[in-house]
Order: sequence, then C-alpha cells, then structure tokens
Amino acid sequence: MQKVRIRYAPSPTGIPHVGNIRTALFNFLFARNNGGEFILRIEDTDQKRSTEEHIKDIEESLNLLNIKWDKSYLQSERLGIYKKHLEILKKKGVVYKDSGAWFFKIPKISREISWDDVVHKNVKFPTKVIEDFVIIKSDGFPTYHFASVVDDHEMQISHVIRGDEWISSTPKHLLIYQSFKWQPPYFCHLPSILGADGKKLSKREGAKSVQQYISEGYLPEALTNFLALLGWSPIGDREMFTLGDLVKEFSLERINKNSPIFNVEKLNWFNKKYLQKIDVKKFATQIKTFSKYAKNLNDQKFSKIINLVKDRMTTLADFDKYASIFFKKGDQSSPPKEKIEVAKKAVSVIKNWNEKSITENLDKFIDDNKLEAGDFKNTLRLSVFADNTPPIYESLAVLSKSEVESRIDHAFKESKN
Ligand code: GLU
Repeated sequence: MQKVRIRYAPSPTGIPHVGNIRTALFNFLFARNNGGEFILRIEDTDQKRSTEEHIKDIEESLNLLNIKWDKSYLQSERLGIYKKHLEILKKKGVVYKDSGAWFFKIPKISREISWDDVVHKNVKFPTKVIEDFVIIKSDGFPTYHFASVVDDHEMQISHVIRGDEWISSTPKHLLIYQSFKWQPPYFCHLPSILGADGKKLSKREGAKSVQQYISEGYLPEALTNFLALLGWSPIGDREMFTLGDLVKEFSLERINKNSPIFNVEKLNWFNKKYLQKIDVKKFATQIKTFSKYAKNLNDQKFSKIINLVKDRMTTLADFDKYASIFFKKGDQSSPPKEKIEVAKKAVSVIKNWNEKSITENLDKFIDDNKLEAGDFKNTLRLSVFADNTPPIYESLAVLSKSEVESRIDHAFKESKN
C-alpha cells in the first residue's frame, strides 16, 4: 500500500478564514489517522498577490489550532523543478509558446475525463469544455495547475483533499498526469461551507480568520471541534471531540456530499461547553487579556468569581459582562426602603463572613421572621448587585461584609419609596 502523504496547499494571497482552515484540518486528520505525513505547501506562484505576511497568517492559524505539519515547501523556491518538467512536456510536443507563456494543448479529439472522487464518486468532464491553458507564465512562474500537479507527483501525495471549487480544475490536472504517464492521487473534493443565508460563506456569516475568533474569546478546542463537524459526521451522535479524538475517528468515507451550514450558534454552544471544562488556572491567564477587572485581582477572589460566572459566559470576552457586579453595583433602581432595612438587619448579624455562614444565617433569618425567601433574596440581589446574578449567597461571599453593607446603605439612599 502506498504511504499516506497529504498536503494542505494554501496560496498566501489573503488571511485564511476558518473555511480554509477546515480544509487544513481535514487533511491533517486524515494524515494522522493513517499514520501518514502532513505537508504544508505554500503555493506562492502568484507573485503579485503572495506576501510573507500571509504566509505567517497561515502558519499562525494552523499553530493556534495545533495542526502541526511535518514538512513545508515554498513553490517559489522550486522554479527549477517546474522548468525541468516543462522541458519534458516540450519534448512530448504537448505544449506551445504564445505571448511569452507556455500553454498546455488540449487534445483535438474530444474524449471524456473522469475520476472516482472520494466524495462525489464518478465525476466526468468532456475535454471539449476545456481550453488550452497556461502552465508557465511569461514571468517564468508556473501556474497553479502545473505547479500543483508536478508537486503532488514529486511529493508523492496519495490523496488530494481540497475545496470543491477546484473540481473543474481536476480534468486539466488529469490531462497533465496523463501526458507525463503518471499515476494521479485520489481526489477528495470537500463541499463548500455555506452561510446561514444559504449563500457562499461571507465575512458577516462567519468567514473570519482563526486569529479573529481567538481574539473574540473563542477557544481553539471549540473552533476545532466545530470545524471538524462542518461536513464530516462521526459514527453515532457524539458531538464533543478533542483533536486527539478526531484523529482517531476521522475518515473520508464519512464526509457528507451536501454543503454544511456555518452556524454561529453551534460554535457558541461548543465554546460554552469547552469554557465549562477549562481549568481555572488556564482560564485565569486567558481571561486577563480580555478583562479590565481581572488584572488586579488576587487568585482566590478571581477563582471564586470565575466559578460563579463561567457557566453564563459564551466567550472569554464575556467575563466582564457577568463579573462586573462584583466590582460595581448594577444601575437598577433600588427596592423599597422597608425591605432594604430588613436585608440590612439580616446581614448585620452575620459574624463569620463566608458562604457557609452567610447561608446558614440568612436562611435562619428568613425562617425566624417568616419571610418570603424569593422576595428577600431579590431585595438583597437588587440592593447589592443587579437584577440578575449567580446564586445570591455565593455571590455575597465574594464581597467583604463591609462592601455588602455599604452597597446596602447606598441602595437605601437611592430608594425612592
Ligand atoms: N493553492 C490552492 C488554494 O489556494 C490549492 C488548491 C489545491 O489544494 O489543489 O486553495
């Protein structure tokens, strides 16, 4: 059996968006699942549009998701290889020169080019729909078609896994393979990801870069899990997969023919799940870059707050939204004065200011005074925090007793009735 050798072959002409990175991920997963090699091939043959910076963006996107490559190549460093192959085609008489560029000749007599695509099964194109095409441009650089075929052969690529916008290029590639008498690799064209509007994925619908998602507070694990399920379905109805799990489970057979829809709600769902699992230490380091409150907090107070708000957050950037009540009172209007007075009295008798003792004391106070628990807690909540908080007793324990009392006093002053 031929060794599995896979390439991800981006052109560095823009920042890759997550749809492009899904292609990288599928390539990587397939390579690793088969104990094969994963190659990063930068296709910088468009000299005008390729930049160093975009190469860095590509590498950074992959690194952020832990997609590690074994080898990397830069096509602009391989011009000699393409020239050598042009010479072979010249000798075979299947190319000609026009306006400084070398063209590949499409056979005059029309026939059918077909291949057994891993996803789309039998695909056919008559050669009459294909026109002669450039393989080496007048600037001496190869075109995508030529460089990609020569490299896939030279690098002994076993499976070409790429977006299905390349399907119509495949017959050209197969004609080049035929003229060299080379064995083509397997082709696997991935259905393109659509936005929620059913159209090609746009920026507004989620076609942002990995970097952008991370800077909005998404976790790499969540993005990876989400991207893996865009067009691939695991066996059974399990949804949570680490990168390691994906490597074990991934197979090309379970890639769907239909276009997956990029559903941000689903990404948010994954992010919430992974946020709930993340360990507090790691969380703390990451949150600090998003939060204006977290920077000066001591570890103990910080981890208490994190544990209280974590389940409410969708992204890391939500921390301040839910944690702000521990730093300043929300601006809801205060409850009636007589209710605040009751709350103040209840708090004043608590000696040990910790969650357990707060709970015991306040519950006892409710019982002793035959208060309506929900209403009493709501008064406390509104006087000290806002109308929506994590469990009130635990929340009170995050603040000092004097802070709670001064907030209650303040609420009393603000109260209109
Ligand atoms: N350079 C092409 C791209 O940017 C690669 C297509 C392929 O994988 O063959 O997508």
